[in-house]
Amino acid sequence: MSDVSCIFCKIIRGEIKSPVIYENEHIFVIQDIHPKAPIHYLIMPKKHLENMLSITPNDNNLCWEMFAVAQELGSKLPSKAFNIIANNGASAGQSVFHLHWHFLAGKNLYEHGLHL
Ligand code: AMP
Ligand code: ZN
Repeated sequence: MSDVSCIFCKIIRGEIKSPVIYENEHIFVIQDIHPKAPIHYLIMPKKHLENMLSITPNDNNLCWEMFAVAQELGSKLPSKAFNIIANNGASAGQSVFHLHWHFLAGKNLYEHGLHL
């Protein structure tokens, strides 16, 4: 459930201080320490899962809860506009190996030529 050496597990356990945006029984949301947009949150399960490849059908409800929290945070924004990004694997940019979504708002990520 919890990993002794994982930085996000340490934050969830309260061993490392980090501004908590939202918390419920299964989900934890913190502010990214190096924000890339005016709003940059990290939405994560309290359960230690390395990334999306670790999710199983048993995590069905957890996945819905991730969406529900993103929905709640997004619906509170005046613009109701936000991006969700999940890096999976080191070569895809993942640096913390505890599943998380970057929730970004207040910046157009596509203004400098990135297209998806
Ligand atoms: P990723 O590179 O997709 O794994 O995302 C990890 C994110 O965690 C990066 O955007 C970091 O800025 C952020 N981060 C690392 N350490 C902390 C911390 N102690 N508190 C908040 N965010 C952190
Ligand atoms: Zn962890």
